Amino acid sequence: MFSKLRRVFTNFIEKASKKIFSKKELFELIDELELSLIENDVAYEVVEELTSKLRKAIEEKSVHSKGELLLLLRNIIKSIFEDIEEIDILSEARMYRPYKIVFLGVNGVGKTTTIAKLAKMYRDHGFKPLMVAADTFRAGAQEQLRIHGEKLGLPVFMGKYGADPAAIVFDAIIFAEKRGYDVLLVDTAGRMHVDIDLVEELKKIVRVSKPHRKILVVDALTGNDALEQARFFNDAIGLDGVIVTKADAYEQGGVPLSIAYVLRKPILFLGIGQDYKDIKPFSVEDFLDKILPQKL
Ligand code: GDP
Repeated sequence: MFSKLRRVFTNFIEKASKKIFSKKELFELIDELELSLIENDVAYEVVEELTSKLRKAIEEKSVHSKGELLLLLRNIIKSIFEDIEEIDILSEARMYRPYKIVFLGVNGVGKTTTIAKLAKMYRDHGFKPLMVAADTFRAGAQEQLRIHGEKLGLPVFMGKYGADPAAIVFDAIIFAEKRGYDVLLVDTAGRMHVDIDLVEELKKIVRVSKPHRKILVVDALTGNDALEQARFFNDAIGLDGVIVTKADAYEQGGVPLSIAYVLRKPILFLGIGQDYKDIKPFSVEDFLDKILPQKL
């Protein structure tokens, strides 16, 4: 996980430490670093921020050792995540009945699997979750969620194929209130993200269901596409947070950093496998430990 970014930073620190007194050579190394970061899905804006701070520190002669350089990098990257609102969807759920989350995302990113993982998480914490299949456009989508529900022994609220997704969500809320379900996890359609009808459909779901949170699911393996999807859904619908799936198979590492920086929205969870237990809360400190060398 994220091993390529760690290699990039390790190489940079190793090389830079041999040139600690030559400003010109250090600046050349930073140019190299820029390219390597971009190759590993770090968005251009983030690269600019990071390298301009590095250059400034070198101008000010405030770095004298490998250890100091590592600490400087760590602090710069950490500052990217500062001032982003933290959201805890588990403790928040205790404040509303039902607590409603609408999940957004392009087909294939791992959205239904993620919803199932979270439904299990809520059940494990004593909640009564209800998954809602509001993608009535793709025949397989409702079925996919139904199968997850069956495997987990958890209910899935389904509507008719082709029915109005917003109406299904509305019915699901009434159903949940009557039957005492306290967390509603709503799956939405994710056909082609550049699709005006889809945006209208999603906006209507949001208008009708008034979710407490709108969460985007992206696939880390799609690299820069994940960032583009995040920008798109944030502009079109507005997001509260992002879940990054397939982190277990993702070596580059830049996606969580880029999304956090560009959207100023929290990364809530990382998907780390295909099993229902394979999801973990995103932690900035863990992320920094993974992308930076531990030993010098
Ligand atoms: P959807 O179309 O967005 O609902 O995508 P699915 O939930 O059906 O997931 C697509 C594929 O990605 C499935 O084979 C999942 O098992 C797999 N998948 C989902 N999340 C993860 C993850 O965190 N790690 C890995 N390795 N695979 C995942």
